[in-house]
Amino acid sequence: VQVVVAIDGPSGSGKSTVSKEIARRLDLGYLDTGAMYRAVAWWALDQGVDLSNPAAVVDAARNAPVEISTDPDRQTVRVGETDVTEAIRTPEVTSHVSSVATVPAAREVLVDRQRQVIEDSGRRIVAEGRDITTVVAPDAEVRILLVASEQARMNRRGAQLGGSQNADALRQQVVGRDAKDSTVVNFSTAADGVTTLDNSELNLEQSVQAVMDLVLR
Ligand code: C5P
Repeated sequence: VQVVVAIDGPSGSGKSTVSKEIARRLDLGYLDTGAMYRAVAWWALDQGVDLSNPAAVVDAARNAPVEISTDPDRQTVRVGETDVTEAIRTPEVTSHVSSVATVPAAREVLVDRQRQVIEDSGRRIVAEGRDITTVVAPDAEVRILLVASEQARMNRRGAQLGGSQNADALRQQVVGRDAKDSTVVNFSTAADGVTTLDNSELNLEQSVQAVMDLVLR
């Protein structure tokens, strides 16, 4: 059966981990749209593109040869010949990614590609990001906004980064980035027909179960 599961949420809401696990359990593909924005930012930095110039950013979105696998067990991101799976998670890329995400015409380029990935999956995929439930796949069978308290999100991101970041840097990466992103996408309130799930008090297995209940109901 065709089932597109669309999951949006702020950084640190656990959407990547939860989405990947849902994809595994239901034998669906997995699309991390944030990785696409990150890969474009990585390429732009690598090529010395001026990220403060919107026209240059749009060109970067068009021209960056980004390839993302949709296997939840083997998430790899390539830009041309280079495997950037790890490189797109560095604080440097993270601090520049909003410069890509806040250019509307660059978003359009990536949204088109994301829709293509969803079609190519035979519409059997879990897609996660900030605008999946609203822009990329508003017609998804299951649409969820995954939210968590600021403290819970900072704790998770901190754990992901191995405790190497001080609290201010972490707050900038989580709260600061969300503040920039929300100037162009609204992921703080659920659109019509989208179910909000607050997982501040849930562990990973409980979050996965809560999403599974919504998918299978
Ligand atoms: O999910 P992740 O934190 O990896 O996303 C990285 C960045 O990509 C976000 O901060 C945001 O700027 C952008 N993004 C977006 N729309 C999406 C997914 C990610 O603007 N659907």
